[in-house]
Amino acid sequence: MKVPLLDLKRQYKYLKNDILPGLNELMEAQTFILGEPLGRFERAIGDYFETEYALGVASGTDALILALDQAGVKPGDEVITTPFTFFATAGAITRLGAVPVFVDINPSTYNMDVNLLAEKITPKTKAILPVHLFGQSADMDFIMKVALEHDLQVIEDACQAIGATYKGNKVGTIGDFGAFSFFPSKNLGGFGDGGMITVKDYDNYTRLKAMRMHGETKKYSHDFVGYNSRLDSLQAFVLEKKLKYLNNWHEMRRDHAQKYNTAFKERGLDEFLTAPYESSVNYHIYNQYTIRTKQRDDLKAFLDEQGIGNAIYYPIPLHLQKCFEHLGYKNGDLPDAEAACLEVLSLPVFPELTSEEQEAVICALESFFKGNRK
Ligand SMILES: *Cc1c(COP(=O)(O)O)cnc(C)c1O
Repeated sequence: MKVPLLDLKRQYKYLKNDILPGLNELMEAQTFILGEPLGRFERAIGDYFETEYALGVASGTDALILALDQAGVKPGDEVITTPFTFFATAGAITRLGAVPVFVDINPSTYNMDVNLLAEKITPKTKAILPVHLFGQSADMDFIMKVALEHDLQVIEDACQAIGATYKGNKVGTIGDFGAFSFFPSKNLGGFGDGGMITVKDYDNYTRLKAMRMHGETKKYSHDFVGYNSRLDSLQAFVLEKKLKYLNNWHEMRRDHAQKYNTAFKERGLDEFLTAPYESSVNYHIYNQYTIRTKQRDDLKAFLDEQGIGNAIYYPIPLHLQKCFEHLGYKNGDLPDAEAACLEVLSLPVFPELTSEEQEAVICALESFFKGNRK
């Protein structure tokens, strides 16, 4: 049995009748930029997050760039972040002329190791950019404490973690800014690119609102130079429709994760692989279900051969990317991130995954680890 890593067609089939009539109206109206659907979606997101100001932007990457800009990050400033994340995290910092300072990860959660944070702070440090990787919150209490002590801004990269919580609080609402992505493969995905910034402070909110419109405060009146970065009506419309299902989808993903965890224990596979660790203070939304094993490359080849969807997030840590060569990092500098890159493998966990498919994934792992390939 072939099992896809992600199959968005199943979700669409389910939502089609809910989405298509409204899309048709939108096509008839031919109003695509900002407008009513965006306002409606931003209010719905505001309700979902409670009390937060939310602004739709063109992508998760832009959400990071605009938030860092509004946080006052300037050329030459340093921003502390993790090397084990999607490229955009460090790309956004670099886009503003600032310098990403990479701190190693906690090998269990794959998030920033907060115990190494303080030693990275210099007079140039302006902000901390934690990532809630795979859908699980970073250790936010500690990060906020360090930020407060050193007067640093905190921008949460919550692109993989919309609706995940830390001690009951939704991620993206704990720091000064939260950045979200609606890239189709995220837990809440649009019909194309999209993103969102959540922000605590009202003045930051109003300035960001102008920033996404070329810094326009009144029609044709520009107090500063901004960006062209808006969530278009079509995406806003689709996302508002999907938002109703989001919590349910999270629960389905969590069920799949539980099933994997239990099966690995029952069938003795936990001897060969490490299942994801979920901290008791977190609500993990499993944008990815990521195992680790020393036999990762062989396992990947085996699963590929069997038609079992899988992917390596991420094969190269950011501090060793060619574009960051000038920062002077070398192999061995951030050992836990480097080891994770060699050992992680993500398995199918999308909500619509059937139990037969999940069983096929588990059986494939079983025959790899316990069959004649041992
Ligand atoms: C997806 C993602 C982004 C970027 O989002 P885009 O919408 O693709 O620009 C940034 N950071 C992380 C951790 C992501 O997973």
